[in-house]
Amino acid sequence: MDYGIDIWANDNFFIDNKKVKVKYKSSPSLIKIINKIREEGTRGPILLRFPHLIEKQINLIYENFKAAKEEFNYQGKFNALFPLKVNQYPNFVKNLVKIGKKYNYGLEAGSKAELLLAMAYNNENSPITVNGFKDEEMISLGFIAREMGHDITLIIEGLNELKNIIKTDKKRFGIAPNIGLRIRLHSSGIGIWAKSGGINSKFGLTSTELIEAMQLLKNANLIDKFSMIHFHIGSQISEIGPLKKALREAGNIYAQLKKMGAPRLNAINLGGGLAIEYSQYKDEIKRNYTLREYANDVTYLLKDISVRNSVKEPDIYIESGRYIAASHAVLVAPVLELFSQEYTQAKLKLKEKNPPLVQELYELYKTIDSTYAQEYLHDSIDHMNSLLTLFDLGYIDLVDRSNTEILVNLIIKKAITLLKDKGSKELLQIQDMIQERYLINFSIFQSLPDFWGIGQTFPVMPLDRLDEKPTRSASIWDITCDSDGEISYNREQPLFLHELDVTKEDYFLGFFLVGAYQEVLGMKHNLFTHPSETTVFINENGFEIQNSVEAQSIMDIIEDLDYNVDEIKDTLNDKIKNSNFINEKAKKQMKKEVSLFLNDNGYLKTIN
Ligand SMILES: *Cc1c(COP(=O)(O)O)cnc(C)c1O
Repeated sequence: MDYGIDIWANDNFFIDNKKVKVKYKSSPSLIKIINKIREEGTRGPILLRFPHLIEKQINLIYENFKAAKEEFNYQGKFNALFPLKVNQYPNFVKNLVKIGKKYNYGLEAGSKAELLLAMAYNNENSPITVNGFKDEEMISLGFIAREMGHDITLIIEGLNELKNIIKTDKKRFGIAPNIGLRIRLHSSGIGIWAKSGGINSKFGLTSTELIEAMQLLKNANLIDKFSMIHFHIGSQISEIGPLKKALREAGNIYAQLKKMGAPRLNAINLGGGLAIEYSQYKDEIKRNYTLREYANDVTYLLKDISVRNSVKEPDIYIESGRYIAASHAVLVAPVLELFSQEYTQAKLKLKEKNPPLVQELYELYKTIDSTYAQEYLHDSIDHMNSLLTLFDLGYIDLVDRSNTEILVNLIIKKAITLLKDKGSKELLQIQDMIQERYLINFSIFQSLPDFWGIGQTFPVMPLDRLDEKPTRSASIWDITCDSDGEISYNREQPLFLHELDVTKEDYFLGFFLVGAYQEVLGMKHNLFTHPSETTVFINENGFEIQNSVEAQSIMDIIEDLDYNVDEIKDTLNDKIKNSNFINEKAKKQMKKEVSLFLNDNGYLKTIN
């Protein structure tokens, strides 16, 4: 069982010696890394960040575009920017900026807060672009960035923004940022993000508005600042077709605007959209192109349009975020409980004389083999139905009923193991019936909000025991008190996990490709916070863990909601002081305990 690792892991992880390992330098297993972190006392879910995977993605983008430019003898430059909305966490951003320095990899900002981050952290000489709606304050901030020396382009979404830029320019010190125009395309993106592009999109200027914008810029003597057109047809573009269509449209708009008199217009910004393959299942593969194909199509099409229109080949900017960030983060969470753990042979309470059908179930269980597995399975389910009726009618007792449930469960499990390779339809149905619920120490709302919000699935697999065939059809339950906190068993895309005894062994699940968008979308449902995180640097001899950040304490999260924590502490302490049930010594201990809980995070602590 390889959990589709060849489909989604992109050669970043592999299975060796029954464990998932990181395919880089010393190739440590994830379980080894987790155990090392847990040695320091950390419990609950842990987010691992791998900077070498950020580096890999950045290198891939620049290398592929370099190759494509050479292939088509493309004259324009290539630039890339990371859109901060995809991940603003410091242990991601700071490493990204460090890694991107050699390429002048830039940052894209969509809000005042992100722009301030970009102004603080962007490498010197790396570009900044600003998208999204802007008020006068945000525009002034753009001017300040330029005045500081940043290579910044404000991309306007509407004519009012442009008017505000012109107004601001008159008030400032004579050095304006570059101006980009977001264009509204006829061709739209596909999938759930189609609203980002297309004629009905939330963003961008129509042809009429573009012409008007040019006039406004000329009148204000700012036409020399107009350097870029921008479009973004949506995230996770799984097919290359719509992108090519959008490029042709944008390329022609570029050529037209140049001919209409935009002397410094020299760049097309394609926004983001490069897709990640999240599927664990062959027949669910979504992405139909490679990065090389994307780079080739972009350079070829823009070259072709430029040559035909006799205009300079534009510099290419891309702002892919998901492609850069998704793979760098892995969430590891321990299994706390299996809900039908009780169905073990040890729990059977067979009597001297059992009801005949129970006795027969027992015989079936003892003698089932691969030849008769299916037949015995049918018999046992028949028997169970009869026995349940007998119970309702008062003919058998609760112990008989418990024995029935255990035996049928054991028979089904055995049958599944015996029939596994025959893959019958019926087997799938049975697996549906006896799926096991694995309770996992994490919150889906906090750590996989994209699953909850938009149904995005993520590759999941155990980190160990990969030499054993997993026999339980599994659904995953988180520890929130919300029935949405479940990744339910899916017959088409089943998840099989191992049988285990949580009182005796650790069992960890890894959730992969969780590094894009989700972190900051994470919700504090039930007041579970961002999990503890660690950055893992892998070297030739092993690995180093750095920048570990503990999950927020209960006190901090309560404070985030604007509670007065001193008031809470005082109230709790008063209640302890005034309790009539206990003596002074116990009160002292209780105070200590409450204070400890408040200072700890809210995830569950397992014994092991
Ligand atoms: C969201 C966004 C991106 C990033 O898109 P990905 O799908 O993550 O690559 C790039 N540019 C703009 C303008 C965006 O809004």
